[in-house]
Amino acid sequence: MTAYDKDNIFAKILRGEFPCYKVYETDRTLSFLDIMPRTIGHALVIPKVAARNILDIKPDDFAEVARVTHKVANAAKKAFDAHGITLEQFSEPAAGQTVFHLHIHVLPRFTGVDLLPPASRKEDLKVLEDHATRLIAALQD
Ligand code: AMP
Repeated sequence: MTAYDKDNIFAKILRGEFPCYKVYETDRTLSFLDIMPRTIGHALVIPKVAARNILDIKPDDFAEVARVTHKVANAAKKAFDAHGITLEQFSEPAAGQTVFHLHIHVLPRFTGVDLLPPASRKEDLKVLEDHATRLIAALQD
């Protein structure tokens, strides 16, 4: 498998070299909004440890990402009055991965509404700010 590239965009976000709409952070994980959301409130959960994807992350590090994903998913359902939540995790290009730092997508879903295709459009920054505020509030409950 290709080695971890420490200059991928999520590594830069973790180092504070690139901005993000942070919604939640622990000592081992970071969660922030996807800038090309496929649904309202589309969030990502990533480990702080360098891991390309599910094929190289240590089980315990992945377990921590899963624990936080559980929290973010429940908060997202509440924040956006979603009818359901889809989780996605892509590993390697053949599976659709485009950013090579492990991440789980948390996608609020609504009955009868399809997800937008990946990378359809960059969301307006004011909209992202509003969605981050709503998700942060729900995460504090
Ligand atoms: P994947 O196909 O699972 O690798 O998805 C990568 C995701 O990262 C896509 O949904 C992108 O919209 C998202 N993305 C790319 N750059 C950024 C960024 N700077 N901040 C937040 N999300 C990003």
